[in-house]
Amino acid sequence: MQNEPLVNINTDKCTNCFTCVRICPVKAIRANTQSPHPSIENSRCIGCGDCIETCVPKAIYYRSSIEQAKQLLKSKSKKVALISPSLAAEFEDITDYRKFVQMIKMMNIDHVNEVSFAIDLLAYKYLTLFGDFKGRYYITTCDQVVVSFIEKYHPNLIQNLAPFGTPMLVMSKVVHQKYGDDVKVLYIGPDIASKDVALKSAGDSKVDVVLTFPELRQLFKEKQIDENIVEYSEFDGPVGYKGSLYPIRNGLIQAADIDENLLTTAVICAEGKKEMIESIWEFENNVKIIHRNLHATYGNSLAGPGISNRGSKLYKEYLVIKYANKRLVKFFRSEWYDNLNTYLNLDFSREFHPDDQRIPDPPIEKVREAIALMKRNEDSQANCSQCGYSTCREFAIDMAKGIVIPEMCPTFAIRNSQYFSDTLKELNEKLASTRQMLKVTEEKVKSEHDTAQQASELADSMLEKLRSGIVIVDYKLKIIKANNQFSVILGEEAEEINEVIPGLRGADLNKFFTEDICNLFTFVLENNEPVDGKDIHYGESLLNIEIFPIRENQVIGAIVRDMRAPEVQKAEVLNRVSEVIDKNLEMVQKIGFLLGEGASDIERMLNSVIGIYDSNNNKKG
Ligand code: SF4
Ligand code: SF4
Ligand code: SF4
Repeated sequence: MQNEPLVNINTDKCTNCFTCVRICPVKAIRANTQSPHPSIENSRCIGCGDCIETCVPKAIYYRSSIEQAKQLLKSKSKKVALISPSLAAEFEDITDYRKFVQMIKMMNIDHVNEVSFAIDLLAYKYLTLFGDFKGRYYITTCDQVVVSFIEKYHPNLIQNLAPFGTPMLVMSKVVHQKYGDDVKVLYIGPDIASKDVALKSAGDSKVDVVLTFPELRQLFKEKQIDENIVEYSEFDGPVGYKGSLYPIRNGLIQAADIDENLLTTAVICAEGKKEMIESIWEFENNVKIIHRNLHATYGNSLAGPGISNRGSKLYKEYLVIKYANKRLVKFFRSEWYDNLNTYLNLDFSREFHPDDQRIPDPPIEKVREAIALMKRNEDSQANCSQCGYSTCREFAIDMAKGIVIPEMCPTFAIRNSQYFSDTLKELNEKLASTRQMLKVTEEKVKSEHDTAQQASELADSMLEKLRSGIVIVDYKLKIIKANNQFSVILGEEAEEINEVIPGLRGADLNKFFTEDICNLFTFVLENNEPVDGKDIHYGESLLNIEIFPIRENQVIGAIVRDMRAPEVQKAEVLNRVSEVIDKNLEMVQKIGFLLGEGASDIERMLNSVIGIYDSNNNKKG
């Protein structure tokens, strides 16, 4: 994907070791507290590829150009491949470079050219630039990592950048000149930073796709291109000369035949991450004393993620020299010289732009806060360097800048893990006691539930034993519970429903009772006042209904008796006659007291009425 950043992190593979944060030379990778994984700040990245190389689980990767290359290879345009001289260090397994050239052509490439010729051209340009001293010292611009480093972190040195394109851009210009403006250019080399250079290239320097050596190997594999099935084929001209030594530390200087005598040379060479960074810093601060130009490279021509040969540097340099010598066997100096003169007239200039990514030093208070957070005493710091920083203070400064997090300091992490382990222990103990409490509560709830269930079952069975109908309804007059006797009193239809839905649960009381009876229920619900036994006609029956509140405005209950049922009739008459007797007895006692007569005769008389009624009923029964 063209718009994907050059370097990315696959968080699924990331193990949060933060090695990449420590290794990035420009602090383009940040650890942050919002995410367990670090993140890459693409605008700060210089494309050195160190993070990719050091990430053990291979969570960091560079943008793939394989799909883009496949599209280019399918196109009908004339296509040219530009091959970096580092190929000698990568394709050690291919016995002859001519086989390699044919393998490239088999991918539907029309011409295969060496970038070493562009280095020869640049060597001449540098020789002239350094030789024609006009008071300014220059830094070579063949290595894009160096160029980006200066644009982003030493913008004051922009004017000191030698005004030439990288070998890839220069060679693209040559092949555009040779094959025409519509030629499509595929660059194959070890430097991932060239992928971003190609994105910005245009016109007769345009590079359409950049493939690293591992990507090229993948394409060979997919297309089943093997040296055993191809014939020899030579590079297309113009061929390179000493430019093929470029991958070696001072290869450019050698190619330019620049004086390397330490007493008289105009150029200092610096190669590798540390040397490059330090030499540029020194150049910026001391160029007035040093009085030398600087040829700095990051060292990615023979190392880094764009090359798969993991052999030693010296061995790879040997392979490059061996290849350069082999190329010189058929070298025609005069032809090369003519070509040099032909193409030297091209404009190889390139502009550079400051892109200041320096982070200002944080205020001293912030640094102190960071030191305090790490529980370090400003004066007695460990400075053990286990975090990758020389001193705790340097680490704290980057912490204040938001680049690292305290957990990256092993001392802090150990102390913190002790704290967490204590806290965890405490939490575990609390959890165990909460669990115990929960268990007790659970048992209590279960026992209460069992008791409630038993009580409910007992209440149900008691309700069923009553001769009266019992019904309990909610505030919508929906039946919550009713005993069987209630259905018997209501009649056949209710009994049938009761068989299907025991206890008439959920049935609407309005379905069984007339409006005036339901109104009594509503009255009790609304007023929370009981209605004492009321006799009400219900079909052919006479019902005595007593309604009472159970839960305020929510639940009410009713006792319903069929007054025409013989057992109720008898009990009711007895009940009511007893009431009359009680009242009359009271009155007779008062009268007897007044009249001096005994009331026992009247009591006897009334009791005999009860006896007569009783015997009559028994006879009927
Ligand atoms: S080096 Fe790789 S695994 Fe470690 S933090 Fe960085 S991306 Fe994750
Ligand atoms: S490629 Fe280099 S500069 Fe970019 S994030 Fe990785 S280590 Fe940092
Ligand atoms: S690891 Fe921690 S204690 Fe050691 S130098 Fe870094 S910040 Fe200081």
